[in-house]
Amino acid sequence: MTGKQHIVVLGAGYAGLAAARRLAGRAGAAQITVVDARAEFVERVRLHQQVAGQRLRRWDLAEILERKGIRFVLARATRIDAAAKRVELDRGDSVGYDVLIYALGSLADRGQVPGAAEFAKSVATPEDSAWAANGGTIAVVGAGATGIELAAELAESQPDSHVVLLSADEPGAWLSAKAAAHIRAVLEKLGVEIRADVKVVEVTADGVRLASGDFVEAGTAVWTTGFGVPDLAARAGLAVDGAGRVLTDESLRSISHPEIYAAGDSAVVAGPGGRSLRMACATALPTGKYAADAIVARMRGREPRDLRFRYILQCISLGRRDAVIQALHADDTPARTVLRGRLGAKVKETIVRGAATAAGLR
Ligand SMILES: Cc1cc2nc3c(=O)[nH]c(=O)nc-3n(C[C@H](O)[C@H](O)[C@H](O)COP(=O)(O)OP(=O)(O)OC[C@H]3O[C@@H](n4cnc5c(N)ncnc54)[C@H](O)[C@@H]3O)c2cc1C
Repeated sequence: MTGKQHIVVLGAGYAGLAAARRLAGRAGAAQITVVDARAEFVERVRLHQQVAGQRLRRWDLAEILERKGIRFVLARATRIDAAAKRVELDRGDSVGYDVLIYALGSLADRGQVPGAAEFAKSVATPEDSAWAANGGTIAVVGAGATGIELAAELAESQPDSHVVLLSADEPGAWLSAKAAAHIRAVLEKLGVEIRADVKVVEVTADGVRLASGDFVEAGTAVWTTGFGVPDLAARAGLAVDGAGRVLTDESLRSISHPEIYAAGDSAVVAGPGGRSLRMACATALPTGKYAADAIVARMRGREPRDLRFRYILQCISLGRRDAVIQALHADDTPARTVLRGRLGAKVKETIVRGAATAAGLR
């Protein structure tokens, strides 16, 4: 690459912001533009807190990017014309790029059972999380990290509500037995009813139907079982996996379009142990930063070093006063060490704040 380059970062979530911040000052004379459909950054990892009635801080994206010399375009990308190297925007114009970082993140996936798209709530995005549970029974579907965090937060903040956590597996089953036992103990102490051997097959206006035929009455049902991704990459003809996530090489370049890099939830990134990295803030920040470094290395005529990545901890909040901090082996499997209780909650809060700092928000 020679001459003045235009690097466009699509998406100002954890991955996009980390990439843009890393590029600023390192990419020489290149112009850096960040495109996002939202004017403000809201910490996605705290959206369960928003639903539980806590006010979340908002950051003005134009302000935080422009003070680093990065141009911010407030618009929704509607299409990528990969042949012309242009991103079309909902406001009617388009942005051309020499290099694109695709970091559009993820969104709710409520298409899995009948009625979920129509009746179930979500906490996947700030817009999805603009609802408040007001008493009665709340059915949280899915006991992955998001379902566990949401159930605990709601039960703690709304003791008059009855929270039912519905899942096929024990909450935290993928963690160590010690961590899973603590999650169960805290949820039960908070009054959460755990039904860990059920499959939800339908959501209605009045509750959720189980594969067994049982019906769980609930004024609110929340769908938390996994996220989908925007379809722009697939529509643009990039090589993607079955979900629409961009397939990348070891330097996070699209395997079909070398001028496009991908990071965060909307990228498939090879990780330790032969597994791809999971959708997490803990993945988005380092992959965003790495994509920027790889671009800068190539601008300087060097091949980038390989992404060196390992997870160290998985942190799951259990309300504001408790959390599980699970130490991990390099291949993301649980190690022996688990922090719990108030110390766990302090560590989790420190890490969430640290993520905002790493994304360049503070
Ligand atoms: C309730 C909850 C709790 C979580 N807790 C944790 C946790 O404790 N630890 C952890 O590691 N992870 C956690 N996660 C997951 C974490 O939030 C995501 O993995 C992370 O946000 C992914 O970062 P990203 O930059 O890839 O995408 P995102 O943060 O989703 O950002 C994508 C950006 O792209 C923008 N965008 C999307 N489409 C368009 C478009 N067409 N045009 C323009 N802009 C667009 C969006 O506005 C957004 O700003 C949690 C998620 C949720 C929902």
